Amino acid sequence: MVKPYTTSDPEIARLLELSGELFDIRSATELLHWDQETYMPPKGILHRARQLGTLSAIFHAKLTNPEVGELIQKLEDEIHKSHGSHRSYNDTDRALVREMKRAYDKATKIPERLVREMAQATSDGLEAWKIAHKENKFEVFIEPLQRILDLKIEEADLVGYKNSRYDGLLDEYEPDLTSKRVQEVFEPLKEEIRKLLRKLQTSQNKKSKRLLRGQKYPKQIMLQIAEKMLDKIGYDFQAGRQDLSAHPFTINFGHQDVRVTNRYLEADLGSFIFSAIHEGGHALYELGISDTIGNSFLAAGTSLGIHESQSRMWENLIGRSLPFWKYWTPYLQAKLPNQLGSTTPEEIYQEVNEVQPGFIRVEADEITYNLHIIIRLEIEKDLIEKKIKVADLPEVWNTKSQASLGITPPTNSLGVLQDIHWSQGSIGYFPTYTLGNLYAAQFWHKLQTDIPKVYDHIESGNFYPILDWLRENIHWHGSIYRPEELVKKVTGEDLNPKYFIEYLKRKYR
Ligand code: MG
Repeated sequence: MVKPYTTSDPEIARLLELSGELFDIRSATELLHWDQETYMPPKGILHRARQLGTLSAIFHAKLTNPEVGELIQKLEDEIHKSHGSHRSYNDTDRALVREMKRAYDKATKIPERLVREMAQATSDGLEAWKIAHKENKFEVFIEPLQRILDLKIEEADLVGYKNSRYDGLLDEYEPDLTSKRVQEVFEPLKEEIRKLLRKLQTSQNKKSKRLLRGQKYPKQIMLQIAEKMLDKIGYDFQAGRQDLSAHPFTINFGHQDVRVTNRYLEADLGSFIFSAIHEGGHALYELGISDTIGNSFLAAGTSLGIHESQSRMWENLIGRSLPFWKYWTPYLQAKLPNQLGSTTPEEIYQEVNEVQPGFIRVEADEITYNLHIIIRLEIEKDLIEKKIKVADLPEVWNTKSQASLGITPPTNSLGVLQDIHWSQGSIGYFPTYTLGNLYAAQFWHKLQTDIPKVYDHIESGNFYPILDWLRENIHWHGSIYRPEELVKKVTGEDLNPKYFIEYLKRKYR
């Protein structure tokens, strides 16, 4: 049953109403996006682009209405005055004002001209990237990328920042995050990971068997396996569904309708399973948000980093553990007797945890993955701060790859051109992937002190104690607390990379 957000304050009630209407428009937009990626016939694209444009204009006009600005200002003043007097404003009220202000400020600071120019530049950028990536021609991407960077620099300057211009872009994905903080956290991590990698490489692991990869697996069986796993970890198919798309993603159409997609590759059951659990982790987060904030700006994950902590906890900390495979191997054997009939959990465990520096980020193991991220982070920060030139990117990339991973990509398509992100204007996004790993390990450490027998539960296929803990401590709050605030509230300390490093050391000892 949905309990409404109750407030005796008429201004909070009005803000909540506006927030709800904006959330509705956004949900409708998301539904069109989901359809475009799943079932839309190809010719639908013509009107779809227009429909999305119209909806985003309505959203923008509604959000930047002067009434919204005045209401936020008034509430901010009153919250400030009431400070310490325990008047009517609780954490949720304050967070609602904060999140609405964040959206309002961004929408009013960035002129419509820039929004339009960015839409054009990223549309051109995406097309150029596709060609450059496919034909291994970096030169095709130079000008379009430069255009995107110029606009992102303009955006960062309008949004504002204290020290580094890159901070103005980071904040979009991880509120309050600064380059200084990123450096504090990532530098020790980089050192430790490189040390660990060197140790592992000299100890010469034997090659694992190809079980979840390299054989043929029927599509229907893969879908059934993923559905069974999603159901088991607590994903509610009455409040979501699983479909196929070119890339896996999770999408939220408002409270209690959060859908996941997956990508089918005939010879890669492993990627299907891990994508399912990963997206399932994202979806569980959104589905676990409190009913009371169910239709407002607070009904979303608080940041991409925290979101990624939820997907990676299920995918890696749980999904790549031996107890997990002890539970699931018999089921997979029954489903795929020809491919996996004589497989043991230990063999799968070894296969899905093999450490090997490679060129491609999305195929990387839990250790080298973060080195891939750090390469991108250092490069995009230098680009935004104009310390390096776009034309020099292949060389910069290859030098960093050699220093960090010990390998130089043979082509730019396998190197600097492998990711789509920059062509879409997503700059400042990459660090959230590694932050997700760090948050996940820190949350997991706390979860294990609260649920000491967690691996026994996993081995017996009982995932509810984990989900209950996550709901109570993380999901329930939606965006009420900012990422750093949430980490402190849940674990009692600030984000600390030591938990992730300890987890890796224990696992790969
Ligand atoms: Mg993700």
